[in-house]
Amino acid sequence: MSMLAGKKAFIFGVLNEYSIGWHIAEQLHNAGCQLGFSHLPGEKIERRVVKAVERFNPKVLAPCDVSKDEDIKAAFQQAGAAFGTFDILVHSLAFAPAESLHNPFLQTSRDAWKMALDISAYSLLSLAREAQPLMNPNGSIITMSYLGAEKYVPMYNVMAVAKAALECTVRYLAAELGRDEKHIRVNAISAGAIKTMAARGIGDIDKMMVHYTEKAPLPWNTDDAATHVGKTALYLCSELSSGVTGETLYVDGGYNIVGW
Ligand code: NAD
Repeated sequence: MSMLAGKKAFIFGVLNEYSIGWHIAEQLHNAGCQLGFSHLPGEKIERRVVKAVERFNPKVLAPCDVSKDEDIKAAFQQAGAAFGTFDILVHSLAFAPAESLHNPFLQTSRDAWKMALDISAYSLLSLAREAQPLMNPNGSIITMSYLGAEKYVPMYNVMAVAKAALECTVRYLAAELGRDEKHIRVNAISAGAIKTMAARGIGDIDKMMVHYTEKAPLPWNTDDAATHVGKTALYLCSELSSGVTGETLYVDGGYNIVGW
């Protein structure tokens, strides 16, 4: 399948082969897309990321802490130098201080709130702003959300607030960028629980996976879960979703539709 032949994607948020971003990369790569990656700075992380993405023959490997404007500018300069222009931006990253995910929500500090919303939600806006001049017409931006944005999920706490902000940011960016002459689309995927490094930080992931097994209409607690997300990302990054923007699409085996 070469649905994305001739297209180029810049992907933020691959840490290892378990990362949702990695599974998105796999689908885009299989569809013929050229890939570039950005990762948190640091030798150890870089080694891990290089190992995870080398099979995709990356054209860009740019260090970037998304809480730093100068890092973001440098990453897009690197992408511009390697790609010229590109078609797809993948934002698959989030962070909140550990204590804000373990303490009661009421105890969330101002600093934890600022950090979680800065890294997990504002970063989509700042990446989109740098990406827009480099993106080709009819390009696509996607980000990753979670049900906690809409419903109470134990211990998701300030990350839930960040995901609600992220989904709202998707709608506002979609309205502005869609009306712009390039007509860039912006969408979120709300993924079901998947065992990644970030998910382990939330805690009770094993209990959650059992709950998904019991409740989701489709099998979810399987090795294919992240692949399902990658396939929807491929749809959102391709011509097939040419009329879709500002949406949050659930890819969770139907978990979110079940009340009881
Ligand atoms: P992951 O740990 O593999 O990926 C998280 C990424 O965020 C890592 O690459 C990490 O380096 C990056 N990151 C954190 N702080 C950063 C910063 N300051 N600058 C740049 N990068 C930074 O975990 P994942 O589950 O693949 O997470 C990807 C996205 O999917 C996140 O937005 C997460 O909230 C979302 N999501 C995950 C699940 C799940 O159950 N795993 C469900 C729904 C949504």
